[in-house]
Amino acid sequence: MTFKTLDDLTDIAGKRVLVRVDLNVPVKDGKVTDATRIERVAPTILELSKKGAKVILLAHFGRPKGEPVADQSLGLIVPAVKDVLGQPVAFAEDCIGDKAKAAVDALKDGDILLLENTRFHKGEEKNDADFTKALAANGDIYVNDAFSAAHRAHASTEGLAHLLPAYAGRTMQAELEALEKGLGNPKRPVVAIVGGAKVSTKIDLLSNLVKKVDALVIGGGMANTFLAARGTNVGKSLCEHDLADTAKQIMIDAAAAGCAIILPEDGVVAREFKAGADNEVVAIDKIPADAMVLDVGPKSVEAVNAWISRAETLVWNGPLGAFEIAPFDAATVAAAKHAADRTREGALISVAGGGDTVAALNHAGVADDFTYVSTAGGAFLEWMEGKPLPGVDVLQQK
Ligand code: ADP
Ligand code: MG
Repeated sequence: MTFKTLDDLTDIAGKRVLVRVDLNVPVKDGKVTDATRIERVAPTILELSKKGAKVILLAHFGRPKGEPVADQSLGLIVPAVKDVLGQPVAFAEDCIGDKAKAAVDALKDGDILLLENTRFHKGEEKNDADFTKALAANGDIYVNDAFSAAHRAHASTEGLAHLLPAYAGRTMQAELEALEKGLGNPKRPVVAIVGGAKVSTKIDLLSNLVKKVDALVIGGGMANTFLAARGTNVGKSLCEHDLADTAKQIMIDAAAAGCAIILPEDGVVAREFKAGADNEVVAIDKIPADAMVLDVGPKSVEAVNAWISRAETLVWNGPLGAFEIAPFDAATVAAAKHAADRTREGALISVAGGGDTVAALNHAGVADDFTYVSTAGGAFLEWMEGKPLPGVDVLQQK
């Protein structure tokens, strides 16, 4: 993978640098409730500012559908950005036109300016040429630090890279380097763990992984669909019986590619989906007709951990069980801890992502011990599905 980074950007004092960032933070009653995304892009912003660039931030916020919507104004989050950066942050009420230009013209070297929500214009999501030109008019250089938006070919995530010299920001760089280690050019054996609720949301992901990894561990609710396709009675478990053929095809493709598929040998079953529900461990071919599997059992955890011990690289998306309700978090937590231990020992490269997966790793207290935990959501999943990411591809062409 070749792309330019901030290391290639010398001599930028006084230059206008348009930086695409992810500031799509959760807001409640006008206050930012989780500043993680701002914290992630802070290093890029501060590095450029320190080098004397005029730093002009571009971002979307919510889904305003091409016109201004008051409660989706980026003006709302300026105080939070200032707090995280520890520096003054100017704001312009439009991302193009006279208001943007006046704010950019007023910048001194090292100043930071946030432009209004790019999605207030229809041209953003259409990647419209005129809109992209209007954005580019305010910059000399383009830096993309928003991997989480890189699966979309929008004006600020893709179009601008065709008009200005384009570079990856530090967060984008870290994400791309981690993903390259995870599946691009990984140390083998590579083991993938895929869990979560449903096969239907992860067909492309499973189909891509079986071609790339040496072993695929399937857990969570989706394991039931595979077990049922194989003829196992899964009782009242979450199961997509209509996807039996899809599950079979994935197993056939795996066999053809030499990828081992590891399904649970035992399960923790309950009669209710709630924390503390009465539960028991059963062999996977002994699931009672009136019970549902809410977690993989201890024998399965042993098998998963043995694969983690064998692996040089681990890619993980989706919890092994209903981790939100104890004690059905046990398998996910045990496997997460083992992966974290191996990573800390320097024996494993571990890359994980997905909304619930990140929550599960935080719950297990090991997110910081993984080699990389992606908070990119959709872009991470599309990467795992082997789909091209337009915002990344355009950086690589340059
Ligand atoms: P991610 O957001 O990381 O991509 P998913 O959304 O695919 O992960 O999966 C997470 C969900 O899967 C959780 O809400 C969890 O409760 C559910 N889940 C995992 N195992 C089971 C199971 N055995 N039965 C029902 N739901 C499950
Ligand atoms: Mg989810």
